[in-house]
Amino acid sequence: MIGFGRVPVTPTAFLQRAATVHGDRTAVMEAGKSLTYADMFDRCRRFAGALVGLGVKPGDRVSVLAPNSGAMLEAHFGVPWAGAILNTINTRLSPQEIAYIVDHAGSKVLLVDAELATLAKEALACAAGRPQLILCGGPAGESFEDLLENAPPVQLPVEDEYSVLSINYTSGTTGRPKGVKYSHRGAFLQALAMMNHVRLDASSRYLWTVPMFHCNGWCFPWAVTAAGGQHILVRRPDPATVWNAIAEHGVTHLSGAPTVLMRLAAEPPSVAPALPISVTTGGAPPSPTLLARLGALNFDVMQVYGLTETYGPAAICDWRPEWNSLDAEAKAVLKARQGVGNVVSEPIRVWADGREVPHDGKTVGEIQLRGNNVMLGYYKDDEATLAATCDGWFRSGDLGVIHPDGYLELRDRSKDVIISGGENITSVEVEQAIDAHPAVLESAVVGQPDDEWGEIVTAFVTLAPGQSVTEAELIEHVRARIARFKAPRRVYFRELPKTATGKIQKFRLRNLD
Ligand code: AMP
Repeated sequence: MIGFGRVPVTPTAFLQRAATVHGDRTAVMEAGKSLTYADMFDRCRRFAGALVGLGVKPGDRVSVLAPNSGAMLEAHFGVPWAGAILNTINTRLSPQEIAYIVDHAGSKVLLVDAELATLAKEALACAAGRPQLILCGGPAGESFEDLLENAPPVQLPVEDEYSVLSINYTSGTTGRPKGVKYSHRGAFLQALAMMNHVRLDASSRYLWTVPMFHCNGWCFPWAVTAAGGQHILVRRPDPATVWNAIAEHGVTHLSGAPTVLMRLAAEPPSVAPALPISVTTGGAPPSPTLLARLGALNFDVMQVYGLTETYGPAAICDWRPEWNSLDAEAKAVLKARQGVGNVVSEPIRVWADGREVPHDGKTVGEIQLRGNNVMLGYYKDDEATLAATCDGWFRSGDLGVIHPDGYLELRDRSKDVIISGGENITSVEVEQAIDAHPAVLESAVVGQPDDEWGEIVTAFVTLAPGQSVTEAELIEHVRARIARFKAPRRVYFRELPKTATGKIQKFRLRNLD
């Protein structure tokens, strides 16, 4: 049925609107150069034209290997406008892993930032497929600019809002990367949800500290554009760069995994930002201690929770005004919860023994999701899609509880529960206790095999720069805070192994000492 009320939705439409409403206003700031929304619209349409000129057909996959940059942002509009599917690739992967993704996706074109040209060439040397390699960004990136210069504007319409907009490969803390399919409809809704919850508008200046290759930057390329806000691009979110950008550009918003924020808190500026900055964090559990430290830097932090499979943040710790009057410690405890479904999410369920768990803050179950901001499925992998399904719901593999007020709190990933002497110990609780020690930068707690106890609690700890604490002191510190049996038996001081998206690889720690 065709009618005026039925138009397929797509998040790329936000750029067309921004060009109309905010055409003369700054859309992008990158390395001292700026583009208006009219410029960005024009460049993205010519980006699409260039792809069509290269022989890209509707439904083809176009991969991008780039840090947060102008071309990466433009790919979120230019690639779909050529009718193609966007596949952004994690820049921290090995050549073999990149080759696997390019082959699995069957990429027709690989757009690569000049600074990653060597990595891309190494990857293509081990790939079976031969996508066309195009360089962008930096002095060696002229080929992309040349292509754009000579390309006609193209903007193919979306016929079906459930068609695939992008494929994002999971970071693979367990097993092989899987290609998560996003639809135009899902990304449209998720972008609007993000715009609403972090309160983006035309005066917003969004600092790009989340990598766009991860869950399409939690759908913020589209969300910031929908708001007509400014994209402030930095290639790496190291503390000096971030603090400079905040001072120089009047940043109002940023997002980042706790590990990024931890580094910012460990190297604070001499003067905290004058105006509060809205900070969204997720991807791993931020400890109450980190949340309290960020508060002191004038960061107004909201925790979010989601997976690649849920377009990024499906849950948000929706802040109630009544909580403003609580003391800092009580606030940090509330902020450490992952929250409730966002405005476009279906209610999230926590499932154990074939039913929803009671809202008692104690009974642990698996977090399961469904709805418009849950993936269409894994690309060319029906088996994995089926394995992740529980009667129509997506199984996150995360364990959590629901508090009496309906807010969700993660306890662990299924496999991270430590069973020691028959007692279940969730690693997050122990990590939070360790992180409360002022000498600690970050920690990871795992169960290591033990003849007597089955598993014993073992902590791996990175100390903050210039700090020291002994193993015995740290164990004592934990015992003073939580049940003694949960305290680590051993503490090792070391750098923590991480995935390319900054998640701690606990499976590696289990066999380490
Ligand atoms: P990814 O697909 O790489 O984004 O990883 C998703 C996983 O990150 C989830 O399954 C969780 O285990 C973890 N995660 C995401 N957000 C949070 C959060 N706010 N707190 C704790 N873990 C999180």
